[in-house]
Amino acid sequence: MIIRFSHFAMSVSLALSSIVCFAQKAPRNGDPKLTEYWDPAVRVVTPGKTNADPPSDAIVLFDGKDLSKWKSDNDGSAAKWKIEGNAMVVVKGAGNISTKEAFGDCQLHIEWRTPAEVVGESQGRGNSGIFLMGKYELQVLDSYNNRTYSNGQAGSIYKQFPPLVNASRGPGEWQTYDIIFTAPMFYADGALKSPARITVFHNGVLVQNNTTIWGATQYVGTPNYEPHASKEPLILQDHGNPVAYRNIWIRPI
Ligand code: MG
Repeated sequence: MIIRFSHFAMSVSLALSSIVCFAQKAPRNGDPKLTEYWDPAVRVVTPGKTNADPPSDAIVLFDGKDLSKWKSDNDGSAAKWKIEGNAMVVVKGAGNISTKEAFGDCQLHIEWRTPAEVVGESQGRGNSGIFLMGKYELQVLDSYNNRTYSNGQAGSIYKQFPPLVNASRGPGEWQTYDIIFTAPMFYADGALKSPARITVFHNGVLVQNNTTIWGATQYVGTPNYEPHASKEPLILQDHGNPVAYRNIWIRPI
């Protein structure tokens, strides 16, 4: 009975996210079971065969075959990027594409490739972008021996935070982003309750470490927050360069 009560107390404690606090109150010379909790059991997820493969509970947004999970962000019509091999490729002028489904807090895996033939420089070379919630851009750019403003290169939160390091592979090579995104929250009156946060691994290398985002990405001027829904579509940018994407999956958190 004592143990059962302790499990209940621990569950309450967990719900309050105060495990450490509770643990401090458990006697150090007492029953070790007092600091065990069993319920709820941790959900089982089958990982992919490699870290790039979608795990069992992921929503696959692009598996190399079609753009059925995407639409044109301009007018909601069918996405007009092209399929080449197992990749989707930006078609200049076709515009940004967005997911049909909306997402908030998430883990996102996405692979991208800038053109093998180097054309242009700085921001004009292999530019695209991943807009979390359609608003917060993680820059995609050919940043291999291509100097540009630091908070505009690959792995940057565009016009806000440069990546911790430049982990870029060369033009024409596939690269990966693994992203953990926490959506911003707003009060009923629209005031900001908590800002968005983002962690990013570029080719497996940490480039954004729980970075606090300042607001929706702006090309000109300082960013700020405008209230929006708790879930919004993911957007990929047409910046006029034929950047390719493949193997895109997301796990709502
Ligand atoms: Mg961009």
